[in-house]
Amino acid sequence: MFKKILIANRGEIACRVAATARRMAIRTVAVYSDADAHANHVRACDESVHLGGSAPKDSYLRWEKIIEAAQATGAEAIHPGYGFLSENEDFARACAEAGLVFIGPPAEAILAMGLKAESKRLMERAGVPLVPGYHGADQDPALLQREADRIGYPVLIKASAGGGGKGMRIVEKSADFAAALASCQREAINSFGSDAVLIEKYVQRPRHIEIQVFGDTQGNYVYLFERDCSVQRRHQKVLEEAPAPGMPEAMRRQMGEAAVNAARAVNYVGAGTVEFIVEQTGGYGAPEATSAAPGRPKQASTPSGGSEPREAGSEGAHMQFYFMEMNTRLQVEHPVTEAITGLDLVEWQLRVAAGEPLPLKQEQLEMHGHAIEARICAENPDNNFLPATGTLAVYRKPQPHTAFQRSRVRIDDGVREGGEISPFYDSMIAKLIVHGATRAEALARLDAALAQVQIVGVATNVQFLRGVLATESFSQAKLDTALIERERAVLFEREPLGLPLAAAAAVAHQVLDEWPLSGRMAADPFARRDGWRALGTYQRRFDFEFHGRPAVAELRYGQGGALHLAVSEGEALAADAAAGPLAIGRLPDGRIEVSFAGGRYALNVYAQQDVLHVFAPQGATRITEVDRMAHAGDAHAEGGRLTAPMPGKVVSFAVKAGDKVAKGQPLAVMEAMKMEHTIAAPADGTVEELLYAPGDQVAEGAELLRIEA
Ligand code: ADP
Ligand code: ADP
Ligand code: MG
Repeated sequence: MFKKILIANRGEIACRVAATARRMAIRTVAVYSDADAHANHVRACDESVHLGGSAPKDSYLRWEKIIEAAQATGAEAIHPGYGFLSENEDFARACAEAGLVFIGPPAEAILAMGLKAESKRLMERAGVPLVPGYHGADQDPALLQREADRIGYPVLIKASAGGGGKGMRIVEKSADFAAALASCQREAINSFGSDAVLIEKYVQRPRHIEIQVFGDTQGNYVYLFERDCSVQRRHQKVLEEAPAPGMPEAMRRQMGEAAVNAARAVNYVGAGTVEFIVEQTGGYGAPEATSAAPGRPKQASTPSGGSEPREAGSEGAHMQFYFMEMNTRLQVEHPVTEAITGLDLVEWQLRVAAGEPLPLKQEQLEMHGHAIEARICAENPDNNFLPATGTLAVYRKPQPHTAFQRSRVRIDDGVREGGEISPFYDSMIAKLIVHGATRAEALARLDAALAQVQIVGVATNVQFLRGVLATESFSQAKLDTALIERERAVLFEREPLGLPLAAAAAVAHQVLDEWPLSGRMAADPFARRDGWRALGTYQRRFDFEFHGRPAVAELRYGQGGALHLAVSEGEALAADAAAGPLAIGRLPDGRIEVSFAGGRYALNVYAQQDVLHVFAPQGATRITEVDRMAHAGDAHAEGGRLTAPMPGKVVSFAVKAGDKVAKGQPLAVMEAMKMEHTIAAPADGTVEELLYAPGDQVAEGAELLRIEA
């Protein structure tokens, strides 16, 4: 086994690899960028080497420098993690030439699977079923149009070199094809340096089910069952689980064998994932047959040829699977496989890279229970999942107290309170992975764990994730890639706490803050400077903004310190205000206890300037305290300025100075955290001036262009 390895990555995956290495008594070398000088992954390793500037091209993608670092520190092998250099065959080759072991597949296997179109041609020959489509080398637009017409709409155009959910366009009808092709090619050349595309039938209501495979240098292969990653936004995974609900045993075996065939066809070594798209007809798999019982797959039988799609399913539900792509690396969601198999996949990677045979054979592999992973990301679900940046002013995570809890709830992260979510890297803050005897148990455990996550300072998808768990589609395992879209009505503008409780929490926070020591309501309200006497009681008015709308609360101090609260929307208290006695106090653990409107809640409230972040077991929300006097003269005129909604890079402008634009018309494309975002005109007008050029980095709120109404 290696004595020392270098981890050519950052964030949670670098920390995760370091943890296994430490357990195996392997020393570790971290590499880091300027932005990551104090990052967790640097602390997680035994030594570290600075690479350069914060942008990936100045640091984590500088492979000559990384190889030098490995040689200088005496590391024998390099673990690339995922993203960055993990699927770069030149890097894999350069490692070998430098006498270092690349902890991953041979360069030839990366190359063979690197381009979606070429890998599909290869898989066709290996008898792995493919989505009907065109994946030829001839890229003549007229030919591509004819092929799309032949396949039948809707079709999906994909950048052959694409990844990370980028470079894909759905085309509904023939007339839209040419424009979509051009836009896809533009994104592809910008992002991946190649404009080659392939065209596929767009599968309706599909599931994304992938198989974890492993190969060793002796030519042995196994599959470690499947993961269902159907819950996606923008073609990117949000929740992943194993096993796939409703997966018939026969289909699991067929998919596992197809995945092993795919791996064998490219002489694969190490950890890889074969992604399949699964077409469902006549219902959702067979969710009642979920994973309560541990499965024990039969030994792999002889590989079967032919590229007919395989069918499986039960009771009218049919599932057909097709090869989508192979990811030649460890996958973000590998922990769900670890949870159900009890294995450490990084340990397997290290053993295989060191030349050892696979630790187990196919018939020795078993799965137990059900695991679900949630990706906690810095993003704005209500604003089309735009990535967010900022400082983690508060970052609290579930605290599994007992050994049992620790074996069921796992948090993989690479950040800590006070750290920055910068615009340079992707937006994942942490992964929460839970394990349960059944899917229902895992789901409940995940919801409980998410309820304990408290993040202030950066927008996150935590509440959104809880919302997804609560949908009928997810809880009943009616899975497909359109789940989030289908459940839109319940998922967006969801408010788990509501104005009365949010306002009560804000009032309680304020009042307790004024009596920090006693924390009790017996304190004399008559001593308050901002209370006023009205008919023998004191009352105070609070103005709020809640979900962008004004709200008001009136607190009355009665006899003996009794409190009465009334809350309503609007600038003045409405007739139907929520009203009643309010009891507040502080619990020994620092939480605020509030009884109001028939409920009793233990809350954490964090203030960031005027914004109060309220966390309750049933959800979290934000309420802003408004100083009415200070805002009296405010105008809301944003007209004429178009600002960057997030920090990032300007990719292109769709307009030039002098152009007339209509409301909603795309003006510019920005890229942040590996995603492109189109910025549309807020109103009709004429473009006066572009203030940046393509390629420029801009800060959040920077004015991009000026429009005259
Ligand atoms: P998974 O491991 O489940 O496939 P993703 O597809 O989100 O997860 O990719 C894993 C990581 O690698 C993410 O951080 C993603 O941003 C990054 N990534 C994957 N493919 C690419 C690519 N072609 N270009 C840039 N980043 C990529
Ligand atoms: P990436 O390299 O970006 O991960 P994939 O080819 O794996 O690209 O596709 C990403 C996602 O896009 C899939 O998980 C699935 O949700 C969707 N998708 C891909 N191909 C199809 C298809 N032919 N029909 C419908 N959805 C698809
Ligand atoms: Mg993929």
